[in-house]
Amino acid sequence: MEYKDIIYKSPVKHGLINHEKTYKDFQWEDVKKYFEHFTDEGVNIAHEAIDRHATNSYKNKIALLWEGEGNIKKQYTFLNVKAQSDKLANALKNLGVEKGDRVFLFLPRIPELYISIIAIAKIGAIAGPMFSAFGPEAVKDRLLNSEAKVLITTPELNQRVNEIKEDLPMLKHILLVGAKDNLKKNEISYESEINKASESFKIKWVDPEDYLYILYTSGTTGKPKGVTHVHNDMISHYITTKWALDLREDDIYWCTADPGWVTGTVYGTWGPWLNGISQVVYNGRFDAEQWYSIIKKYKVTVWYTAPTALRMLMKAGNEIIKKYDLSSLRYICSVGEPLNPEVIKWGLKVYNLPIHDNWWQTETGSIMISNYPSLPIKPGSMGKPFPGICAKIINTKGKELSPGKHGLLALKRGWPSMLREIWKDKKKYDEYFCVSGWYTTGDTAYMDDDGYFWFVGRADDVINTAGHRVGPFEVESALVEHKAVAEAGVIGIPDTERGEIIKAFIVLNYGHKPSPELKKEIQKFIKKRLAAHAYPREIEFTKDVPKTRSGKIMRRLLKARELGLPTGDISTLEEG
Ligand code: AMP
Repeated sequence: MEYKDIIYKSPVKHGLINHEKTYKDFQWEDVKKYFEHFTDEGVNIAHEAIDRHATNSYKNKIALLWEGEGNIKKQYTFLNVKAQSDKLANALKNLGVEKGDRVFLFLPRIPELYISIIAIAKIGAIAGPMFSAFGPEAVKDRLLNSEAKVLITTPELNQRVNEIKEDLPMLKHILLVGAKDNLKKNEISYESEINKASESFKIKWVDPEDYLYILYTSGTTGKPKGVTHVHNDMISHYITTKWALDLREDDIYWCTADPGWVTGTVYGTWGPWLNGISQVVYNGRFDAEQWYSIIKKYKVTVWYTAPTALRMLMKAGNEIIKKYDLSSLRYICSVGEPLNPEVIKWGLKVYNLPIHDNWWQTETGSIMISNYPSLPIKPGSMGKPFPGICAKIINTKGKELSPGKHGLLALKRGWPSMLREIWKDKKKYDEYFCVSGWYTTGDTAYMDDDGYFWFVGRADDVINTAGHRVGPFEVESALVEHKAVAEAGVIGIPDTERGEIIKAFIVLNYGHKPSPELKKEIQKFIKKRLAAHAYPREIEFTKDVPKTRSGKIMRRLLKARELGLPTGDISTLEEG
């Protein structure tokens, strides 16, 4: 049986030494003692992540080791991050930003992105990081729904904002990082505001339940939903970083995720800094040699990445690894999509280390299920629930299923970093809790006899391509805006490198003929509107797209036909 295939028993004796015992005894409440200012006066995650370190023995410790393309390097101590974020917080206040206001970020992974996330929290405002590959439509959806007051971006990315600016009456200011001149209406230079701002800032103490950030994520239907998290999340951020990512004082940590995705916000910003850890940020495209050179140059000890990246590294071959001294690495973790056993076995061979998979979601706000350093790894399994997390496999009525049975992966509601709202959409929020007492994840899974969880798939039509969640409806809606497209049905199909790729079935409007050129044009259209990761890598022109009598696209039928699987119940299929 696959789960007997245990390949790695760690000799490590630190972090979460005894999962079973800690799981029994653990109380979330106990984590508060690690914070300096979890008091009745209020809390602020930015104080715990940056300011307190800047006034203790960590003040000259490196918080951020930054490298951009072209070998440009910068480094910031905790004191530097405090000083810069204090100034930015003052600058934002001067622009009228107050507690609860939304400040959105459309930036590459430059130091200003991380400093902005901290500064926004210091005011008690709500940060909205957006992935820098988003096209105008994706940016508009987010700014419009959140009613963002301020946007921080670069002149280059601002060109995409210019296309939609007229539709965003709530957006008062655009702060441009690195703007030379020619500022238009509403545009302000980030640097000149910072230069004007006072250096001393008094942090805003907020209620633990006050909002901290919003990240938009995709479901099967509708526009992306604004998943909202609070300052109280710091409890989960702190302890999961310590126990699941095993970060310790002297580590040099590299999280490869962009803060436009939840891993980059939580484990590429808050988690490591709450633990006072030095972290590396590389602002550049994936390139195997470049990645290995980052590990070598900065002597990275803990590396948190994703299965697609690992598969791409595997494809790049074992020869190039020999060119780089990777001996600093001591712990590797992965998240975002299923991690295939071959990759774990390969990692063991070439890095001499196992890869620790973990599972969580934008909505859960922190790692829920993980392979810990002290637990034997069963390749292909996501691991065991984090202490304080009750994960079960249930059916649609809430009945717990026995080991080995496939069902819905559900979590007992109420852990510190659970989502607090879908921004302005109570109905969508309630859908997560449709089974009484449970948060339903949308994933299907099973648990084995030893309590390890195994991912099976999504219970809905959401596509996971290279670890990025894409809603088929968003792609279909963007497709039908192309003049040649009358109807579109979108599904995910298996891909050895990216987990899934997006395939679109397209019915053309009268007068348009299928051609390879038209496919390319449609792909370009989606890349530009939504994002590069969301375009259909495969397009099939078809005469019709199967729909139910009520007009819903039957994506499941499309998928079953595509993969040669049984088509199941199609009694609601539209006739004729
Ligand atoms: P996101 O909210 O964008 O981070 O996406 C969360 C989704 O990614 C989950 O609901 C899963 O479908 C998938 N996912 C995350 N981690 C894993 C993992 N370790 N194994 C399999 N799927 C994962």
